[in-house]
Amino acid sequence: MKDMPWLQPSIDRLNRLLQGGRLPHAMLLNARLGNGAELLGMEMAASLLCESPQMGYACSHCKGCQLFKAGSHPDFVRLDPEGAARSIRIDAVREMVQRFATTPQISQRKVALMVRADTLNHNAANALLKTLEEPPGNSVLLLQNEGQRPLLPTVRSRCQPLPVNPPTREQVMEWLKAQGFELSGEETWLHMLRHEPLRIAAFLRENQMDDWQRFQAVMQGVGSGQLNPVVAVKSLEKSAIELDDQLNWIEAAIHHSNSERAIAGGVLSQRLPELQHQLQQIRRELTPGISTNRVLLQEHLFTLWHQFHRLQAN
Ligand SMILES: [Zn+2]
Repeated sequence: MKDMPWLQPSIDRLNRLLQGGRLPHAMLLNARLGNGAELLGMEMAASLLCESPQMGYACSHCKGCQLFKAGSHPDFVRLDPEGAARSIRIDAVREMVQRFATTPQISQRKVALMVRADTLNHNAANALLKTLEEPPGNSVLLLQNEGQRPLLPTVRSRCQPLPVNPPTREQVMEWLKAQGFELSGEETWLHMLRHEPLRIAAFLRENQMDDWQRFQAVMQGVGSGQLNPVVAVKSLEKSAIELDDQLNWIEAAIHHSNSERAIAGGVLSQRLPELQHQLQQIRRELTPGISTNRVLLQEHLFTLWHQFHRLQAN
């Protein structure tokens, strides 16, 4: 994680809280997994469980650090989204609450890391509320929020946000270079991955370029009206490009096209806000935990893309 300089201010902040004895019981990390949020959460958890953390980092050789690295630290609980709904399950929250109720076994405190806390549904959040309202002594709960949809206010209001910076474009390119990937930074598919370095690296490692080119060709066909959205959706059935990312790319393409038109002194269509509103609606329906017909949603998305092209032509 030390090769991700944009995360350093958050570690410094944690260090100051720790040194000053002002550690909150629940901290909210508003940061994306693709920008290293999970690594940050794990590093923070490790240093909170370490016997002698240095400058906010775990020492990596004390007993706590060794158990943490082995994945068997008795004072650490990690929660991840599970199941078809890809959400934090209520059973997992209950188990965490129970473990928090006992005293720490090895470390000074108990620590839980919840990845994608934004996928907590109402019931699971309710199971967590008592722990947030009356936190047991010596416990710290770290919640990572991907920010796709707002965290439930009952949970958010009881957590202290710990600021996390996203990387700058230069930092993204530098980090990728260190991983062996040379990019100009102008590649249009970067929009699809929101310029998140870990996702870009995964995209390149998994060789998704063919899928990307295919998606782009299909989008051209849909835009020009040569390809019907229903047929287009069918032709992308096996594509590795996820629906969320297709939406990212379409939103970025519309944004880019609008900026160019505005710069050129052109007038934007009055129907544009409505179209953008519908794109936001699709984004909301795509959040994990909400059961939705993804094929219909994708057809709707492609129909909007075609409509956008028609607005542009007028
Ligand atoms: Zn240690």
